[in-house]
Order: sequence, then C-alpha cells, then structure tokens
Amino acid sequence: MKITRNGSQPSAAGPTENFTGHVRIDSRFNAEEPGRAGGGIVTFEPGARTNWHTHPLGQTLIVTSGIGWTQCEGGPKAEIRAGHVVWCPCQRRHWHGATATAAMTHVAIAEVLDGKVVDWMEPVTDAQYLAPIQED
Ligand code: MN
Repeated sequence: MKITRNGSQPSAAGPTENFTGHVRIDSRFNAEEPGRAGGGIVTFEPGARTNWHTHPLGQTLIVTSGIGWTQCEGGPKAEIRAGHVVWCPCQRRHWHGATATAAMTHVAIAEVLDGKVVDWMEPVTDAQYLAPIQED
C-alpha cells in the first residue's frame, strides 16, 4: 500500500495559461500502471475557473466544499455543491470553477489516454462565466 501523506508535496498554483483567478492544487496522484486514474484536489477562490477544456476519457468531479458552477458547451450552466458528483463526458468541451462569490473545492479524477488527461483551450470569458444558472 502506498500512502502519500498530506503535506509531503507542496501545493501548486493553477497555471495562468489554464485557469482564470486563484486556483490551488493539492494531493496530486497518479495510479501505477496498468491503472490509469489520476487527479488531485483543486480549490478555486471566488471568480476562479478552468479554461475551456476536454478530457479524452472523461472526468469525475466530487465537490468537497463550497459552491461552484460548471457547464458543458451548449448545455446549461449548473450550480454544484459539496457532496455533488459531476461526470464530464469524454471529449466534451466544458469548464468548472467557483461561483463569483463563494470558493469551491473538488476532487478531480480522470484517466490517461496516450499520456494525456486533458486538452486545454481558451479562457472562459466573464460573459460566459456570469451567464444565468439554468437548472435542467
Ligand atoms: Mn474538466
């Protein structure tokens, strides 16, 4: 059994080329082969969000604290809260982040295909980010 202890790897800032606002990434992990799952714990300050992006094999998000927003391109923008589990379908453009006024932390888990877990694209504009919430 491998235990990666809290504090054994430094917190990392979400790079500005992939995120808007203040984002912190902790407890990054990668399965050993033939396992494919990797991820980390991602904390978004209010206003912070990912760029638009896709995952080759999809992604699971487990919200552990706060309130956030997420959207698949062409779909409704949804509010997500602690305890919610989100599935981002394979190859679908989407983003996830905090709300404008509340921080949000989620565990992110995605599987590697051909060495990649994500393809990063352009930032989410303020108009896209601040669009009304639509509950489906
Ligand atoms: Mn994602």
